[in-house]
Amino acid sequence: MTSRYPEMSVDTAMITRNAEKVVGLCSGKGISVWGVTKGLSAHPAVASAMLDGGCVGLADSRVDNIRKLRLFGFRRPMMLLRIPMPGEMTNVAENVDCCLVSMPASVLMLDQACDEAGSEVGIIVMVDLGDLREGIWPDGVEEMADALLQSRRTRCLGVGSNLGCLSGVLPSVTNLSLLVRIGGELSNLLGHPLEVVSGGATSSLSLVEDGTMPEGVNQLRVGEGILLGTDVTGNRVIPYLERDAIRITAEVVEVRRKPSMPIGKTGADAFGNIPVFQDRGMRRRVIVAMGRQDVRPEGLTPVAPGLEIIGASSDHLTLDAEDFEGPLNPGDTISFAADYGAMLAAATSPYVRTKIIKK
Ligand SMILES: *Cc1c(COP(=O)(O)O)cnc(C)c1O
Repeated sequence: MTSRYPEMSVDTAMITRNAEKVVGLCSGKGISVWGVTKGLSAHPAVASAMLDGGCVGLADSRVDNIRKLRLFGFRRPMMLLRIPMPGEMTNVAENVDCCLVSMPASVLMLDQACDEAGSEVGIIVMVDLGDLREGIWPDGVEEMADALLQSRRTRCLGVGSNLGCLSGVLPSVTNLSLLVRIGGELSNLLGHPLEVVSGGATSSLSLVEDGTMPEGVNQLRVGEGILLGTDVTGNRVIPYLERDAIRITAEVVEVRRKPSMPIGKTGADAFGNIPVFQDRGMRRRVIVAMGRQDVRPEGLTPVAPGLEIIGASSDHLTLDAEDFEGPLNPGDTISFAADYGAMLAAATSPYVRTKIIKK
């Protein structure tokens, strides 16, 4: 018999309600919302929940996730979020409706792959507004326009940007106005209007909320907000969204009173970190069978009061349970709320099973 733990439960009804709220907020400002599925490895139930909530399409960073959704029968538009690898252009040409691109050479490679596949792919040109991940510089518009004009099988839908993800740069009226302006320049060079100005992700929602989103931005790609109700870049919970759709649960394998200070001379832990300890005397400690192979322990918060994470190795997570009320025994389970990193790790770990609950 194998244990069903660690398990990540996903409340899809809650995800639908969150998507409805985000879509409702944005549609009032003429902004369409794409549901970003990569946080839960494009689980089909999650993709459906996002579409049920009114997302116009689905977006993921992996072509294979998009292809999986196609095989599951999804017909709605699908966007590839990661700029494509030269080695996957055929896969992109065959499976995605639109794709983010930042290199003129990628446009030409994708054009050729589309020609061979007999398909057409829409392109959103990424502009780097200062977060220093992907994107052309504002002075690279012409070079990109030249490549787009040479391409017959790709169609430029517009411009987009990514903020927050690498350097933590926040979306602002200034940087998103620049995006709109660059969209205008590109449109002039191409000689046709652009359909899309894609103004970022969850972190851009705050500009929609306070009414400062620059005119012209008409698309957002939202994952974290819909799945978790949080905005890690903006360092806030999103007050009108629900935050308990995702829970990670592990099984207790040891309960014992132990001193809070290790015995003997200490070096580094299994991952090379030097742990620090505080002497709190003898404490009740619990081990659950879950570790760095399953989650990102730093992103977990125990749901029940009186539990505190002490540390984790590859397969064991220890907690201080001195202040937890009630008995704890092997076979009991402990549930955790997860941040984006912990959710992503659990979703991509082969050792964690995902359980869909629909309340
Ligand atoms: C992951 C990702 C998103 C979604 O970000 P959230 O913060 O989860 O809303 C949007 N755009 C790109 C390019 C991404 O990689």
